[in-house]
Amino acid sequence: MSNDSMLPQLPDIIAKAENLPSPPSVAMEVLRLTGDDSVSIDDIAIVIARDPALSAKLLKLSNSSLFKRGSDISTIDRATMVLGLKTVKLMALSFSLASTLPKSGDGSSKFDYDAYWVHSLTMAVAGRSLAQLVKSRYYDEAFMCGLLSHLGQLVMAECLPDEYSAVLDRVAGGMPTAEDEQQVLGYDYPTIGSALLQSWEMPEQISQSIYYSVTPKDLPATSTVEVTELAWIMHLAELATTVICSSRKGPALALLHETVASRFEIADKEVDAFLIGLENGVSETASMLNIELVERDSYEKIIQQARMQMVSVSLGTAVDLQESQEREESLRQEKADLSKKANTDKLTGINNRMFFDDQLKDVIRQHLRGELEKGLGLLILDIDHFKNFNDTHGHLAGDEVLKAVAKSVDDAVRGADVAARYGGEEFVVILPETDGEGLMMVAERIRRSVEAVEVTYEGKLLKVTASIGGAVCPSIERQGEGPALLKVADECLYQAKDGGRNRSVCTTVENVLN
Ligand code: GH3
Ligand code: MG
Ligand code: MG
Repeated sequence: MSNDSMLPQLPDIIAKAENLPSPPSVAMEVLRLTGDDSVSIDDIAIVIARDPALSAKLLKLSNSSLFKRGSDISTIDRATMVLGLKTVKLMALSFSLASTLPKSGDGSSKFDYDAYWVHSLTMAVAGRSLAQLVKSRYYDEAFMCGLLSHLGQLVMAECLPDEYSAVLDRVAGGMPTAEDEQQVLGYDYPTIGSALLQSWEMPEQISQSIYYSVTPKDLPATSTVEVTELAWIMHLAELATTVICSSRKGPALALLHETVASRFEIADKEVDAFLIGLENGVSETASMLNIELVERDSYEKIIQQARMQMVSVSLGTAVDLQESQEREESLRQEKADLSKKANTDKLTGINNRMFFDDQLKDVIRQHLRGELEKGLGLLILDIDHFKNFNDTHGHLAGDEVLKAVAKSVDDAVRGADVAARYGGEEFVVILPETDGEGLMMVAERIRRSVEAVEVTYEGKLLKVTASIGGAVCPSIERQGEGPALLKVADECLYQAKDGGRNRSVCTTVENVLN
């Protein structure tokens, strides 16, 4: 073990656990022998041969589709020669480690040992195939890293069953993520697993790659090419395994596509083909490791499901988007409704004084910006002898007449002109762009239309007349000219009243503020 290892040590609570798994002796011996340059392939073969189960597994593996290189391999010597020392060593380590680790709990554990082993096995096969896909030469290491990648979870489930069950509760039977563990325990499986492998003096590149597999972006700049490649391969293998083993297939596939494309420029189609291609390797390796695979859909179907999930996730986004657009639209509508309410006169349903005030300011701004050519005209209309009308026919009859008058005024104004109820029995009209002649014409049109209004109330035909005062200013230079012009119009209204009512009096003022 080098002194410059960057990995954290095992947390005390685990390091002191009695049931901490210990490394198998054959694995340790293989490890020791391969570290010694003077050791021959034969020496290794002899050591492996001492463990008949391991030998059988290695031979089976040598002849499996993962390794198959033509002729049948029937002896460890031959396997070592054909596969190479490194492969045999790593496979011997992987298999002997896997065989010593517990395959099931004591019955009280919530930890899903079967799921753990299927996950680890899939990680191993996916890691090895991924290494080949991305043209890394560390495929045997990737297999071993994959197989041991979640070792930390097994260790926590065995050594800290109570603490770990809190993590398991959180994921309700699923496979916890490193983040789930961090949040509950403050440490996670990559940390525990890599620290344990380190204490067993397993190859450092394996423990380091496992440590950084969840967050390969955190790899120190000083990491070797091997560790960097392996950590990324493990990261991708985790995504591939999630696609195959978990229910969150869609997001994992999307992320796998994205990461493989951006890091290795490999197309989605090729990634999907690689995933489907894992099926054989997984089932062969499962039988070698005595891992029972539950009946499941073919990988082709699994990948298809993942693709469909991906589409429905993006459809979900589209639905979200539509929903938020609808929400926005309804908010806009609500706002518009509110502002309409604020601007509408309750009794008559036409614009109110607030709207008139705002509108007048707006029109004057347009004049000040020079956007309107002709002058600004204002009309003020007042129903004649309305007090008398109310006294004669009652307030309710008066209301009905007010409504009818409001409608007739509103209908009589056209285009850009704006009518509003100013208050009581008074109405105002803005003519943003007019002259004296135009103003008088509109005033008379309105007056006649009010005169024509007939309201039948309680069997009686009711009619009213109105007087109108108007003022037009050919050139507007200041905001204050609005209210001043209205005052002039009001003076004209009084002239109309004085003149006998049911008439219009309009005037043109050149300079309304003087
Ligand atoms: P003039 O021709 O000089 O304008 O006489 P007038 O009676 O119309 O003038 P005055 O301002 O004295 O009276 C206005 C009347 O309008 C008094 C009030 O009862 C009536 N009025 C104001 N608002 C309403 C309303 O909302 N409903 C009813 N029914 N009457 C209203
Ligand atoms: Mg009045
Ligand atoms: Mg009146």
